[in-house]
Amino acid sequence: MKKDLLNLLKCPSCGHDEIHIEHIYSRYTLNEQNKKIEFIKEGLLKCPKCNMIYPIIADVPTLLRESQFIDSEKAFCQNYDKNRETVVLI
Ligand SMILES: [Zn+2]
Repeated sequence: MKKDLLNLLKCPSCGHDEIHIEHIYSRYTLNEQNKKIEFIKEGLLKCPKCNMIYPIIADVPTLLRESQFIDSEKAFCQNYDKNRETVVLI
């Protein structure tokens, strides 16, 4: 997920229109103008209003209500290594 898209996300649980990044593992690419573009490979997003946590797995944010998460998404949120904030430059 492009980090710039964060501004467009809305919490599906409470409707709050501001979701924060909790922990991320990113990579960067360069566009045609040699400008760095940040992609979030995996991590956690958090709604500051209702405290709901959403996973980003393999570049894709899962913005569903918690009851709609599949088991692997629940496990990802519970077991995510919060010390893994390494940024990879490519
Ligand atoms: Zn919320």
